[in-house]
Amino acid sequence: MRIYKFGGASVKDASGVKNVAQIIAERGKNDLLVVVSAMGKTTNSLEKLISAAYNKSAEVSELLLSVKMTHLSIVKELFNEDEVMYFNEIENLFLELECMIENEQLLEDYDFLYDQVVGFGELISTRIISGYLLKIGVRNQWVDARNFIITDSRHRDARVQWEETEKVIQHRLEPLSKKNLLITQGFIGRGSKGETTTLGREGSDYSAAIFGKLLHAESVSIWKDVDGVLNADPKKFDNTVLIPELTYNDAIELAYYGASVIHPKTIQPLKAVGIPLYVRSFLNIQKQGTRVFEGHGSLNVPCKILKEDQTLIEIVSRDFTFIAENHLRDIFELFTNHKVRVNIMQNSAIHFRCVIDAKENQHSPLLEALVSMGFKVSTERGHKLLSIYQPKIGEARAEADTIGNVIMEQQMEQTAHFLISRES
Ligand code: ASP
Ligand code: MG
Repeated sequence: MRIYKFGGASVKDASGVKNVAQIIAERGKNDLLVVVSAMGKTTNSLEKLISAAYNKSAEVSELLLSVKMTHLSIVKELFNEDEVMYFNEIENLFLELECMIENEQLLEDYDFLYDQVVGFGELISTRIISGYLLKIGVRNQWVDARNFIITDSRHRDARVQWEETEKVIQHRLEPLSKKNLLITQGFIGRGSKGETTTLGREGSDYSAAIFGKLLHAESVSIWKDVDGVLNADPKKFDNTVLIPELTYNDAIELAYYGASVIHPKTIQPLKAVGIPLYVRSFLNIQKQGTRVFEGHGSLNVPCKILKEDQTLIEIVSRDFTFIAENHLRDIFELFTNHKVRVNIMQNSAIHFRCVIDAKENQHSPLLEALVSMGFKVSTERGHKLLSIYQPKIGEARAEADTIGNVIMEQQMEQTAHFLISRES
């Protein structure tokens, strides 16, 4: 049993779908489960649609039409007009989506609405791929991931209920996987009330890892538009190199600090049972890519991660009393409650400074809570954070200086972090 995962970039248009179908057709029959994300930037478009619906904006129908047109034009390229069943399937999914968006009851809770709607991207893409495989003679079965990935009801960031998930996967999915090539969705699951849940943005890698672990797969492969895991994003750095082998631990660290090539939660389930993860290119299939496994070797090249849109938050106690342990405890509790992750931090006697990802003002409730607790809070947006994993001694700071003006730095275990001013 093997698991393949194809992300949005691999199926962004009809030729992408054909390429993915070719890769699947050549490599798998009944011993393969394929996890697919929404096509191209569909999830972003659905997010816009969801907030328009929630805000009862007039843009709803236009946004919906645009998502529908994008998909229908791909469907038209892949199927002949007389292959009506494929068109009908997609039309029906859009009909369902439309009903959701118009359902007044759903419009009351944003996160709940989000989860009921955003997963349509995956439902639609997998129908298209499954249909196209059938058309070219590759027998397969489309399965609904929501019947197998059982989660709690924490919407937009659901936690997997491992015991229940393992039970249904072993009782219901494993027998199917012995008979058929399976096509399913990443990102979505089923909550405690039977509703759709999602595992967080870019969560399809994690879905693949869950299926891999519970189906006792021999490997999980993530097919990407890069040759494998590189030591830095080639769009941001020159002279990047491919890392052919990476230990689980190194991969966890890199994903945690924002190397977007692997979703941070993906490695843990695989590491727990020793399943290797392959990261390889759907454009260059003859290349080996990167193998992530329980190795012992160390990386012989520093890895660099540059994150944009970083917000620096400075917290001062209003009466200039010391930021002592109990203040820190209150501050951390607020960050946790608001689900805001701190990338780096620093404190002096009366200041606490930290850096977070700016997610469209999602943190304003946190800032308000800090103010109401009596802290003086100021923020600066638009900085960059450079993290260098296993830097060569003495070289990290020089590297940061080439990017810009370093305004804060921190060394945490094997990683050096530099906040680089937006003014540089
Ligand atoms: N389609 C979802 C997203 O774009 C999940 C994924 O691609 O992994 O976030
Ligand atoms: Mg995606």
